Amino acid sequence: MSKLALHWKIIIGLVLGIVWAFAASALGWNEFTLNWIDPFGVIFIRLLKFIAVPLVLFSIISGISDLKDISKLGRLGAKTLGIYLITTISAVAIGLLLVNVIKPGAMVDDETRIKNRISYELWAMEEGVEIKDGKRFSQDEKYASYLSEAQKLSANENDLAAQERLQDAEKKKDEGPLQFLVDMVPENIILSISDNALMLQVIFFAIFFGICLAVLPEENVSQVKQFVKGTNEVFLKMVDFVMRAAPFFVFALMAGVLANMADSPAEVFEIFKGLGSYSLVVFGGLAFMVFVFYPVIARTVVKPLTYTGFFKRISPAQFLAFSTSSSAATLPVTMECVEENIGVSRNITSFVLPIGATVNMDGTSLYQAIAVIFLAQLHMVDLSLGQQLTIVLTATLASIGSAAVPSAGLVMLIIVLQSVGLNPLWIAIIFPVDRILDMCRTVVNVTGDATVSTIIAKSEGELNFQKL
Ligand code: ASP
Repeated sequence: MSKLALHWKIIIGLVLGIVWAFAASALGWNEFTLNWIDPFGVIFIRLLKFIAVPLVLFSIISGISDLKDISKLGRLGAKTLGIYLITTISAVAIGLLLVNVIKPGAMVDDETRIKNRISYELWAMEEGVEIKDGKRFSQDEKYASYLSEAQKLSANENDLAAQERLQDAEKKKDEGPLQFLVDMVPENIILSISDNALMLQVIFFAIFFGICLAVLPEENVSQVKQFVKGTNEVFLKMVDFVMRAAPFFVFALMAGVLANMADSPAEVFEIFKGLGSYSLVVFGGLAFMVFVFYPVIARTVVKPLTYTGFFKRISPAQFLAFSTSSSAATLPVTMECVEENIGVSRNITSFVLPIGATVNMDGTSLYQAIAVIFLAQLHMVDLSLGQQLTIVLTATLASIGSAAVPSAGLVMLIIVLQSVGLNPLWIAIIFPVDRILDMCRTVVNVTGDATVSTIIAKSEGELNFQKL
């Protein structure tokens, strides 16, 4: 067993976790799973999360303080953000293409869609939202008999969970256009460090601190630099230790997630049936990104990298992304994989990956594009080209604004829905399948970060690729 590569051990843990969850629910052991196995999954996520912030802090400071030429940092920053933006917009475009061609929302029977449509018109009237496509089913006598059922439907959409998320999103919407810049600057660095959601503030502080270290005379700061480097090593070692136990932790996490998802995992399948076509389109788009888009780019940039080699090198991070649903929690492992297995220098990983984990979410943006159009199709709403372009813009921004934690993409979807005059409470419709889609889109988010950091390392001459 000890000779088996880590990614195989993690796969085994993952599969055993799923098998366990099904067996346990069949045997009525769900309670046992929740009491005795699930806590280890929670411990795993806590370990990764607590390592993530100090690791980002110390690795960025140590990477930047070593830079001989600070102007390189500006170039690196612009390149990083530029390439991240390109991959995100490509992901939205792929999502839009798939959902417009396959039309998963139109696969539902017309009667249901007409009722949905009328409930949408009623909602729009109440909220004073203008419907752009000009149709009016609610005023057509032909559909008068559907009216009362549609009214019931719109009442159902006021699902409690959706309402709560709506309030979160409303807060974000009221903010001014430069709020994201304001949010990046810490008020009190201790507070930022103590809140994983404020990772961008930690990055800002670390870059600033690193620049100051780099420009000060060596004799004044050599001990500080030494301390930062040494501490960084300690956190990297922690990642190493935690990863050795990862197969077991992933088992616990999967068993726990499934046990929490529904009373029985069989129920999960039931839920999926209704949203099957939508889920398949999202899976298809995400699979395209992971199995075609990124490996092709990575192989084009790094010639000796083989297709399977690409996955061998980063799969521990991918499996972890899948089981934790959080790019932030996966970050320490992404950094380790990209540095040790692909050969990207620490200067690059420590700068590009933490920024990527917080702002680059290709999987999230692709999913948001598909979800919005699917929901529109389900309600017989035709979106114009202009509205679809608005979706490109808002899904890109919403994915940048999504925190790297479970379900963040769903919350931000509200903003994308509102940007084209759709009912934000529709997130309640896709809510039941969101966790599993979240797991998959997080894999895409992490793979995207790893690929972009490889491209940047190559272009900066900071890639020391070795055959495995
Ligand atoms: N869970 C995703 C992540 O951490 C964000 C999302 O909900 O899409 O990358």
